[in-house]
Amino acid sequence: MVKFQLTAKRKEILQSLEIKDPFLICRYYPYRYNHYSLEPLSFALHNQKVTIQGKIVDIVVEHYRPKKCKTTLTIKYLDDVVTVLLFNRFAWSRILKKDMHLVVQGKYNAFKNEIAASKFYVGSLDDGDKYEPVYHLPSNVKSQTFINFVKGMYDYFKTTDKMANQIPDYFLKKYRLISLKESLYNIHFPKNEEVLHQANRHLKYEEFLNFCTMVALKRKLFANVNKKINKYYDTDLLKKVINSLPFKLSDDQNQVLKEILNDLQSNVSMNRLLQGDVGSGKTIISLLTMVANYSCNYQSALMVPTDILARQHYKDFVTILSPFDIPVYLLVSEIKAKEKENVIQKLNENKPCMVIGTHAIIQENITFSNLGLAIIDEQHRFGVKQRLMLKQKGNNLDILYMSATPIPRTLASTYYLDMDVSTIQHYPNIERKVETKYVQKNTILSIKKYIDEYLNNDKDAKVYVVCPAIDSSNLDMKNVTNIYKETVNCFPNIECLFLHGKLKTAEKNDIMNQFAYGNARILVTTTVIEVGINVKEANMLVILNAERFGLAQIHQLRGRIGRYGKTGYCYLCCDNDDEDIKERLNFLTTHSDGFEISEYDLKRRGPGEMLGLKQSGLPEFSIANLVDDYNILKTASADANYILNHATDFKDYLTKINILLTHEQKYID
Ligand code: ADP
Ligand code: MG
Repeated sequence: MVKFQLTAKRKEILQSLEIKDPFLICRYYPYRYNHYSLEPLSFALHNQKVTIQGKIVDIVVEHYRPKKCKTTLTIKYLDDVVTVLLFNRFAWSRILKKDMHLVVQGKYNAFKNEIAASKFYVGSLDDGDKYEPVYHLPSNVKSQTFINFVKGMYDYFKTTDKMANQIPDYFLKKYRLISLKESLYNIHFPKNEEVLHQANRHLKYEEFLNFCTMVALKRKLFANVNKKINKYYDTDLLKKVINSLPFKLSDDQNQVLKEILNDLQSNVSMNRLLQGDVGSGKTIISLLTMVANYSCNYQSALMVPTDILARQHYKDFVTILSPFDIPVYLLVSEIKAKEKENVIQKLNENKPCMVIGTHAIIQENITFSNLGLAIIDEQHRFGVKQRLMLKQKGNNLDILYMSATPIPRTLASTYYLDMDVSTIQHYPNIERKVETKYVQKNTILSIKKYIDEYLNNDKDAKVYVVCPAIDSSNLDMKNVTNIYKETVNCFPNIECLFLHGKLKTAEKNDIMNQFAYGNARILVTTTVIEVGINVKEANMLVILNAERFGLAQIHQLRGRIGRYGKTGYCYLCCDNDDEDIKERLNFLTTHSDGFEISEYDLKRRGPGEMLGLKQSGLPEFSIANLVDDYNILKTASADANYILNHATDFKDYLTKINILLTHEQKYID
């Protein structure tokens, strides 16, 4: 048995790293490795980083200025002799002596046959290859001290059951993973790339599997506390409404509807995210969900981020629902006081109905007699608090969140820990075609010819021009005010309008109506048009300073065009030469699937930034990485579900995870 040595120094290290259990030193992974690999110098290029080892045959130390010293070593390496320079290494200049063996790494000057050492140590490489682990350590802990500590702890614990695999055998076999014991050794002291890779595979998968299983378990617990009365909705009524629609539901729509209706029928409150690209047809799903809820004698509320969108939905809902005598109300801040009073009264009459509105719905003076379902459209536009306020308007509500900013499914279920996710992957039966072009200029004039041609070819056609700013307070960005003037000059015979978020709601509505139904043909605007504006004839979109927008956002903007069987034309204008930007914008010209775009965005920018939140509430993983190891996460997530569905086969594992769940609260809240 190896002796367990916990010296004062080691205790101090444990303390400063906040590690309670000494075994967990083995779980304190290196964040990178110094790789030493020997090759004959005759292979090395000038200025290339090289590693050599050999005996010191000569040593000269020069103190050429106060506080400056240069140590010139002559080292015999293989059949060669090479000069090694060390600068200002005073301590070493006294330690190094003739005949000592050294390993040296540094840049090779092929002309002078000289190496400027960046790293070196006394000794030699076993197999001509060495990976030296590098850890994040407090400044007073030397790397070698720590390495020795890890070695000691590993040797001590390697025969204990702490080294027993956590991953169930079933998956170890399935993925041909090496054991935990081997993994922990190789993650610290790999002999080569291959064993390091195998160690990483095991440890990353282990971490994700534990995490995903914890999430799945937690969801199950959550379900037990959110009990409600099952809603056995009227399937006949629902069928009638569906049959009255001017189109057939797509397969994806049918699927997500089934998932949602299952939630309504169950005795656990729904907490579901419905995601799908712009134009994928989420609205009709929300309507049908509200019909089902209505048939159980409950009230429903649909909250959307803008006044315009609320009115648009309201109009559509009324058209579809009036033949069925289902009452629908509109509640936005800018309606007449009397109308509002009427709506408030209706909501308290103890009769089932539907209300569509904006933030106005969550004001304090709004109460419901029997709210059973809340739907939040474009949910990322609302804060946590606002969502909560809506939730509190009823008891154990069913809640459906909708979002057109698709997040890769697995990441979504990680991010929205306790939510179920339904996804509309494909557009409904309508054909959509948007041609996206990247223009390496950033002016209206540079696309004048496209706009002219487009407007001349179709007398009803209309164009959006989107700028990142409203006025000239930021000189780096095109703004609505200036571009509007330029556009008017550029197209003297065409009626132009401008729109932005700082205008009053009534003005905005007015402009939108003029653009949709009047003679105006060009609308210069900001991203206010991003959510739910339907102007059938507007099928051209020009985005200035396109580099200022996220890919998901551009994608959402272009969802405004090419909707009704006509081809849409999208121009991404950007005169920035940055290769990264070019690549990003080019990606949009060749991809039209929102999920592919979001995965690409995720890989490039990482989850925090992509979700628009630096502290996105995602857990920190010690070795796995949500972006680089996304495929492992996907696998682990599916396996976690498998484990829960075969609980008796994985009893031991689930017991362990349950213990973790109670201890590791950091994962949960
Ligand atoms: P989003 O998911 O962005 O909210 P919408 O619900 O606004 O998308 O739908 C976009 C358009 O597609 C609407 O005009 C809607 O009527 C239409 N639509 C929805 N589902 C279908 C379908 N199955 N077949 C044809 N058109 C559909
Ligand atoms: Mg929508």
